[in-house]
This record gives sequence, C-alpha cells and structure tokens, in this order.
Amino acid sequence: MAPQLNIIIVGGGIAGLSTAIALRHSGHTVTVLERHSSPQALGGPIGLTPNATRVLIEYGLREVMEEAHVAVEGEIHFRRWANGEVLDSMRRDELTEAYGFPAWSCSRFKVQEILANVANKRGVKIIFGAQVFGIDLEKPAVFLKHGTEMDADMIVGADGIRSVIRGAVTGNTEFKTSTPYGSYNVDFPRSLLQSDPEVEPLTRGDNFWFGPQIVVAINMPDYGDNLNVAFGTVSDDGREGDWHTHGDLEKLKAS
Ligand SMILES: Cc1cc2nc3c(=O)[nH]c(=O)nc-3n(C[C@H](O)[C@H](O)[C@H](O)COP(=O)(O)OP(=O)(O)OC[C@H]3O[C@@H](n4cnc5c(N)ncnc54)[C@H](O)[C@@H]3O)c2cc1C
Repeated sequence: MAPQLNIIIVGGGIAGLSTAIALRHSGHTVTVLERHSSPQALGGPIGLTPNATRVLIEYGLREVMEEAHVAVEGEIHFRRWANGEVLDSMRRDELTEAYGFPAWSCSRFKVQEILANVANKRGVKIIFGAQVFGIDLEKPAVFLKHGTEMDADMIVGADGIRSVIRGAVTGNTEFKTSTPYGSYNVDFPRSLLQSDPEVEPLTRGDNFWFGPQIVVAINMPDYGDNLNVAFGTVSDDGREGDWHTHGDLEKLKAS
C-alpha cells in the first residue's frame, strides 16, 4: 500500500482545491492554506471543457457540477466586430460528441465554492486567513504570520499568478507580464439588456466579437439576474494578479 502523506496545499483557488480532492481521493491527509479570510466571489462565467470535466467526473463531481452548470441556449457565435457578421458558430454538444465528456458553463465563484464544499466533506482541512510567507524546502515546512511553522511530508504550491512557492523553488521572484492586454468584467442587469429589442437576441447565447486589439464576450446568464460582459483589450489599467482593482470606464471606452 502506498504511504499516506501529510500534504499542505498553499492556495484555495480552483487548482488548489481540485488537487486537494484528488490527493484526498488517494487517501492522503490534506490541509489547504488560503490567505483570504473567506471565499472571494470573483470572476464571471467560466467554461469547463471536456479535459476538465473528465477529471471532475472521475472524482465523482458530475451530479453536483451538473446542478451548477448553466445550460446556454443556442450556439456560440464568433462575430466580426464592425457589423456583427457571424464568422463561425459552434454547438456546445459538438465538444461532447468529439471528446466524450461534456462542456459546462458555470460561474467561476460557484465552481470554487463547490470544490471547497466537496473537499471539506471528504475530509480536507481548509484553513482561511492563513497566508504563507515563506517555505523551508528541506524540511519541508511553510511559515505563516508571526513565524508560525507548519510541517508536512509534501507541499504543493497552488498560490496563483504571484506564487510565493514558485519563487522559493525556482529562485525567480520576478513577475513577468506576458501580454499588454487586460480584461474588464462587467455585470449588467439582464432585464436591462433584455428590454432593448436590438440587444435582447444577443443575451440568449454566447457571443464573441473580434476586432483589432479588442475582443468582447457576452456570456451566459449568471446565477442572479446579471449577464456578464467581458472586454479584453490593450490596457494598462490595473496590475497583473490584482483582481480587486476597479476598472476605469473612460479608459475602457477609449480602447
Ligand atoms: C479573479 C479571477 C477571475 C477570473 N475570472 C475568470 C472568468 O470569469 N472566466 C474564466 O474562464 N476564467 C477566469 N479566470 C481564470 C481562471 O479562473 C484561472 O485560470 C484560475 O482561477 C487559476 O486558478 P488557480 O487556483 O491556479 O489560481 P487562483 O485562482 O489565483 O488561486 C490562488 C489562490 O491562492 C491564494 N494564495 C495566493 N498566495 C497565497 C499565499 N501566499 N498563501 C496562501 N494563499 C495564497 C489566493 O488567495 C487564491 O485563492 C479568473 C481568474 C481569477 C484569478
């Protein structure tokens, strides 16, 4: 029988929580350390493609994820920005047919919440408000506030784009930006968009507009009464890895 390890995962995001479920499935003792004091309701819709759903299904999450999945009417349309002409379209079930597993659309926060609930129910210990400041690679151990040390047999770094763990392992703490683009996420009251006859048809499926230096996506309805519109454009607004900055509307309009 494989040894049962005591594993610490740094970061309670989608990667950290999924890893926690997988490692728990193999019988290990798993603790997730998350710096925020509570789950953060960030992000808009997220598309889970068959390579991801295959794994979630393997770990027994089909039912709970299907309840959370928002069925999107109609096709996904890819359009020319200038006149809305449809350049290509795709049905969501084409992906299922091609790869044998479904494609789900969910709210990113909901996915994170489900993963946390499942992990918790299966015996993963999730500690909120536990920011890791450093790691001893030899022991191995992590260091929290006031020098509190936590030892483990294995430490997994799932602490996102500005990972402390990656920096400690590779010695490279410099954060390199790979793109001049930024993304503005805006939630509009769905009723407002639906009350405009010109916009209403666009609220019924997934639509993407592609133009020079900009892509606009109207995605599936969210869980409340909102519809998420994402604007990907050249932008120096905000800072990489800082998800809390409010965008500047004038900069968005100018782009
Ligand atoms: C805010 C946000 C919104 C997004 N929105 C969308 C979307 O709408 N649609 C879409 O398709 N994709 C979206 N994405 C992209 C996709 O969700 C990400 O690729 C995915 O979240 C990456 O998961 P992750 O677990 O690797 O990193 P993250 O989600 O960044 O999770 C890392 C976790 O580690 C924690 N952490 C960081 N440092 C430490 C530390 N030192 N100690 C303890 N904990 C720490 C963080 O608080 C965080 O909870 C979004 C990503 C983010 C971050």
